[in-house]
Amino acid sequence: MALVHRIPNFSSNIRNWKSTNSTKHKPVSSLHYKTQITASSSPFTEKHSVERYQRDQWLYKASTPSPSPPSNQQDDVFVRENDIASQLPELKKLLEVLREKRESGCRGGDCGPGDVFLVGTGPGDPELLTLKAVRVIQSADLLLYDRLVSNDVLELVAPDARLLYVGKTAGYHSRTQEEIHELLLSFAEAGATVVRLKGGDPLVFGRGGEEMDFLQQQGIRVQVIPGITAASGIAAELGIPLTHRGVATSVRFLTGHSRKGGTDPLFVAENAADPDTTLVVYMGLGTLPSLAQKLMDHGLPCDTPAVAVERGTTPLQRNVFAELKDFATEIQSAGLISPTLIIIGKVVELSPLWPHCTKESSCLVETR
Ligand code: SAH
Repeated sequence: MALVHRIPNFSSNIRNWKSTNSTKHKPVSSLHYKTQITASSSPFTEKHSVERYQRDQWLYKASTPSPSPPSNQQDDVFVRENDIASQLPELKKLLEVLREKRESGCRGGDCGPGDVFLVGTGPGDPELLTLKAVRVIQSADLLLYDRLVSNDVLELVAPDARLLYVGKTAGYHSRTQEEIHELLLSFAEAGATVVRLKGGDPLVFGRGGEEMDFLQQQGIRVQVIPGITAASGIAAELGIPLTHRGVATSVRFLTGHSRKGGTDPLFVAENAADPDTTLVVYMGLGTLPSLAQKLMDHGLPCDTPAVAVERGTTPLQRNVFAELKDFATEIQSAGLISPTLIIIGKVVELSPLWPHCTKESSCLVETR
């Protein structure tokens, strides 16, 4: 069975749990706080992009026809600029302004390209940003951000900076990885300080490596500012040590994404079924039933503790704790949505939130 809960002020709740739940037992109850989680209440940016475009006065015209290039200008830069102009006329204007500023400001001087910063923004709680990230975010000309950057983090952006959503689920346009590369390159070449914001750590399942590689090949300096990856932020929030002497000697970060888009979790299960290793699965909601089954088939005990955490470190955090054998069913009945992080391993039981089965705890209300 599982314990599902949503705790708005999580840290203080951990303290309360610690003082009232000291005996460890197997999870026996289900506890659902039924909350209306609406699209507009998302702590992440994906559902807010339209409003943000309006606030930032972007003129969004996806269908603007692009002029055909003069034959002598049919080079990469021209194609790239047309592409930008046809998608975001305002962006093109901004690019022109930056170039003019740069030409007038550096006549006779040395005018190299601007820097690109790949900045990790952590799992959602803005207090998990590094000081370096805050400094860079506040000094950027243009910021490109993903859907897992929280709205609270965007509040730190300077009022005259430009924010551009490039996430995949805006609902009205999504940018390909190539488009993102081109945007970063064009603005850096125009001398802008460009900040690429990514949820968690930019180099953990964030395609940050690809962006870095592309820009470096074009001669652009890329600086990476690490962020707290979801595994660390969420483990800390739940009081789970990812490694623990005598319990887990290693930790492994996996993607649940199947390369073929199916439900087969990357054939990892046979190597991952190690009771002394903590498994942290990113993007794993869709493939979890198959992963859990495979882990058990390959010898991971079916009572291995596990937790799935939706919207971790935000006020809308929800947790589903269960043993591996019940885990997929419990996640499904709780209706967890993305982003959800999964942690599987004996260390999960060390969390003060692991559901305890004492006589007193039968007061946990079964609301389903
Ligand atoms: N670069 C990010 C990971 C991006 S992959 C990082 O270092 O954390 C996206 C996946 O990360 C999500 O599908 C989810 O599994 C996990 N994730 C990121 N933020 C999360 C959050 N606040 N709550 C739960 N899972 C999160």
